[in-house]
Amino acid sequence: MNSPKSLLVTGGRVIDPAHGLDAPSDVLVLEGKIAAVGPDAAAQAPPDVPRFDATGQVVCPGLIDLHCHLREPGQSAKETIATGTASAARGGFASVVCMPNTSPAIDNAGTVALIHERAEREGRVNVFVAGAITKNIAGEELAPIGSLKQAGVIAITDDGHCVQNNELMRRALEYARMFDLPVMDHCQDYSLVTDGVVHEGYWSAALGLRGWPASGEELIVARNILLARLTGAHIHCQHISAAGSVQLLREARARGVPVSGEACPHHFTLTDTVLAGSDAFWGGDGRELIGDPKGELPRWPSYDTNFKMNPPLRAAEDRAAIIEGLVDGTLEIISSDHAPHCDFEKEVEFDYAPFGIIGFETELALSLTRLYHAKRLSLSELIAKFTVAPARLLRLRDKGTLRVGADGDVTVFDPDEEWVFDAAETASKSKNSPFSGWRLKGRATAVIVRGGVVFAGREAGAGRGMAVAN
Ligand SMILES: [Zn+2]
Repeated sequence: MNSPKSLLVTGGRVIDPAHGLDAPSDVLVLEGKIAAVGPDAAAQAPPDVPRFDATGQVVCPGLIDLHCHLREPGQSAKETIATGTASAARGGFASVVCMPNTSPAIDNAGTVALIHERAEREGRVNVFVAGAITKNIAGEELAPIGSLKQAGVIAITDDGHCVQNNELMRRALEYARMFDLPVMDHCQDYSLVTDGVVHEGYWSAALGLRGWPASGEELIVARNILLARLTGAHIHCQHISAAGSVQLLREARARGVPVSGEACPHHFTLTDTVLAGSDAFWGGDGRELIGDPKGELPRWPSYDTNFKMNPPLRAAEDRAAIIEGLVDGTLEIISSDHAPHCDFEKEVEFDYAPFGIIGFETELALSLTRLYHAKRLSLSELIAKFTVAPARLLRLRDKGTLRVGADGDVTVFDPDEEWVFDAAETASKSKNSPFSGWRLKGRATAVIVRGGVVFAGREAGAGRGMAVAN
């Protein structure tokens, strides 16, 4: 669908962490590839090349979200490749990696081919596929990892589930290493977590909800560190939620163990106090969020299932530790864990609601607000977590960079635009966001995939929401 095109992006502040570039520049894409970056790029553009005016905006490599659920095949009432990638584009993402916990699971070459074909036809942005570690994500028997690699998966994971058998995980790592595939892991020890639904702590006790202890994550992070050292295979720990996990990863990385970690905006923005309702949150752990941007505070009741996700929102110390991990580089990557669910599925008692929230369209704004505007990361450091870092992990040599010859994927965003997110307006098929009604700062302006504009929220001098031919 995204055939190679040519485009000249002019007048922006170009930030490419892969090259330490942060300067006013133009970016020229010819036939889908980056052809020139710099003040003289415009001079190299053939006269008939279309132009995109990015004056006053940040221009960077197309953002990558390496953790999302597009729900195809099998759960298209929640999301489809078409709606999910439209939502990703609105959020500023040029590439996404979809998780294999679909129905059927992505544990064979045929299903990988099906998704590639559908993404080619209906996807607005690049879709990369993560294959399963085990057949049917059941944790019992290895999936055919070699044939998954041959079919084009770029990583393996049982996300949503976690391989409990350590010997099986070791063998998965040995195969993955042989096929040069990164292994990503949703870290959850079933015997400790059992049927927990929220962080085990004060609020689980006060609200009478079953606890999901931080140690249930830490135990598997520790296991993964030991197995990464044993096998030499790289393990990427997904959506880290607990302070202890950050500390384990920090120590292991300092010793040179091939492990990495990722954080999601909800885990570095919210805490489990939200479960007691908005008054409890804004009067407590939410206080540090008040004031920038200014405006009315959003309200929600207690036991709101849009705050139910796996791993759960944790305590203020955990939230602070995740931010520290992002600041010191222990957590190299930010992802959404975009997990759409239908209204009727979420509108049930807390215990019965599915885990997960949508995230593409709030991810960049929450990251800018919590990390850049709060002066914890520079823009370049923040962009690196969406570009060069995920591209390196996934061996996507032509993504996440504006190097000449790389794919012509570019994201344009306004780090200072203030806006209110309304879940009713999302391009996703599902509306299960805890951030509806939140005033946010920073917003994607345009997404360019292989030289073609696939989303343009606002071009300089034009109104927001202009239609884009794709
Ligand atoms: Zn997960």
